[in-house]
Amino acid sequence: MEIIKVAPRGYCKGVIRAVRMAIDCRKQYPDQKITILGMLVHNHYVMEALALNHIQMIDDPNKTRDQLLEEINEGVVIFTAHGIAPQVIEKARQKGLICVDASCPDVLKTQNLVKKKLSEGYEVLYIGKAKHPEAEAVCALSKHIHFMEPADPLPDSTNQRLFITNQTTMSVYDLKVLFERLKQRFPKAEFSEEICNATRIRQEAVAKLTDVDVLYVVGDRFSNNSNRLAQIGKERGIPHVYLIDTVQDIEDEQFKQAKRVAVTAGASTPTYLTDQVIAYLQHYDTNKQKPKIELSALLGGII
Ligand code: SF4
Repeated sequence: MEIIKVAPRGYCKGVIRAVRMAIDCRKQYPDQKITILGMLVHNHYVMEALALNHIQMIDDPNKTRDQLLEEINEGVVIFTAHGIAPQVIEKARQKGLICVDASCPDVLKTQNLVKKKLSEGYEVLYIGKAKHPEAEAVCALSKHIHFMEPADPLPDSTNQRLFITNQTTMSVYDLKVLFERLKQRFPKAEFSEEICNATRIRQEAVAKLTDVDVLYVVGDRFSNNSNRLAQIGKERGIPHVYLIDTVQDIEDEQFKQAKRVAVTAGASTPTYLTDQVIAYLQHYDTNKQKPKIELSALLGGII
């Protein structure tokens, strides 16, 4: 069985930066309670490894960041790599919290572009994933931002000056098709495709795979970019695509008949977890036990 290590895969610069900021924060404020407002990056093993460093997280998929902030009353609050609405930062300051913003620079670039277009009088159509914190932060900027998911019906025509943009971790291929449809609906609209480079090159690497029987995407089910990698693998006709958290999720029946097995990982997936998957497949032996996940080793390569 041939194992294809898809490149690039795994950690992006925004995730590495956010995790380093959290660890540095622990060093800078050794006696303070530190709470992350949501998942710092979308991988729950990373969050468990940070908890070992006494950096806690509060999250609830049914609550906004603003609602979650109600539960933090002391110490340091860290805003996640996905960005944060200015109102939430202001509210945290008013509560007397020390604010640390780990927003990815690529996310901020899109936010700033949207702000600029709003200040020029544009209506904004923002394409993203519903309830995703990145979309929540952008949409909180103004009531002149309209949100849609790629599969939603196109919005009604408008005479307003329209600016159309998107969340950074969407599928390059979905967005291309959607932008074409939107160009026909809104011929005078301005477009800016804002998929970040890390997302784009990971997706392109999966799209280029040929003659692969099985694709493993190592990533958290909440990670939008991991889900998109799996989606693109399926759309490109790879017969068996599995989104797995860790090596523990692999079932040997999934690859026993396969000649070529590819492995990739989302931008928030620790290299340690992906390396375990690759090593297990490369040295497969029916009698061999799957390796355990050592949380203390999980942030290797970052700190
Ligand atoms: S996936 Fe892109 S936008 Fe998200 S943290 Fe990484 S570089 Fe930033």
